[in-house]
Amino acid sequence: MSEHAAAMPVSADEERKGPEDEVAVDIVDMNKWFGDFHVLKNINLQVRRGERIVVCGPSGSGKSTMIRCINRLEEHQSGSIIVDGIELTDDLKRIDEIRREVGMVFQHFNLFPHLTILQNCTLAPIWVRRMPKREAEEVAMRYLERVQIPEQANKYPGQLSGGQQQRVAIARALCMNPRIMLFDEPTSALDPEMIKEVLDVMVGLANEGMTMMVVTHEMGFARQVADRVVFMDAGQIIEQNKPEEFFNSPQHERTKLFLSQIL
Ligand code: ADP
Ligand code: MG
Repeated sequence: MSEHAAAMPVSADEERKGPEDEVAVDIVDMNKWFGDFHVLKNINLQVRRGERIVVCGPSGSGKSTMIRCINRLEEHQSGSIIVDGIELTDDLKRIDEIRREVGMVFQHFNLFPHLTILQNCTLAPIWVRRMPKREAEEVAMRYLERVQIPEQANKYPGQLSGGQQQRVAIARALCMNPRIMLFDEPTSALDPEMIKEVLDVMVGLANEGMTMMVVTHEMGFARQVADRVVFMDAGQIIEQNKPEEFFNSPQHERTKLFLSQIL
């Protein structure tokens, strides 16, 4: 598994990179409310191109909401979010532009159950990128090979294991050639024996230089690939540090408590 995952190509086009887009995601003084509930409080977070960020924190701390704000699955109310140089506003054109650059993988895979694996992978490239069907299928098969399930291409999601479905979800996101990948607890709905096959794919992606923000409690993954671990609690970023410092000398009491509970 790992050697195939490691062979995964860089999805962002080299020629699209440049010094001016050094910062992939820039969140400044961002706040979000659900009604009266202040769910994200003054979030400041910068993700550089090629950086791998792991986000962790107790359940309900706002991790999913923060990640979902980045591709406008949730709307923020103040401050700014700039993705790949494009500021997220109500402008639908900008939202589409950003969504084209940002791949998202969810806890529950979110594959279309009535479409085959191949159709799941070609849908967005055909309809959003206007890619010819044949080409979209070639691209999809390439990524399905990279995640080691080309033989499943004509099956339906319900016929696959959880680990296989999550690998399809990753392949599907990669088919759009995203510059940034967001993962929201991609392994937490999986049986233990399937976690590794998904993490291996993610490690391969990280090794190829993909910019990644990963909400996970897989601290082995964090130690192995994260450039930075961000700890959230009650809607705030409490601290962030390189994995070694984060795990060996957490600064905040709340971080210590959290780590003592999960490690
Ligand atoms: P996490 O991913 O860290 O577990 P979430 O971002 O899912 O946290 O949720 C943060 C808080 O916001 C929780 O208290 C949750 O109940 C609340 N919340 C999440 N989504 C909604 C929503 N659509 N409407 C109202 N409250 C929400
Ligand atoms: Mg969550």
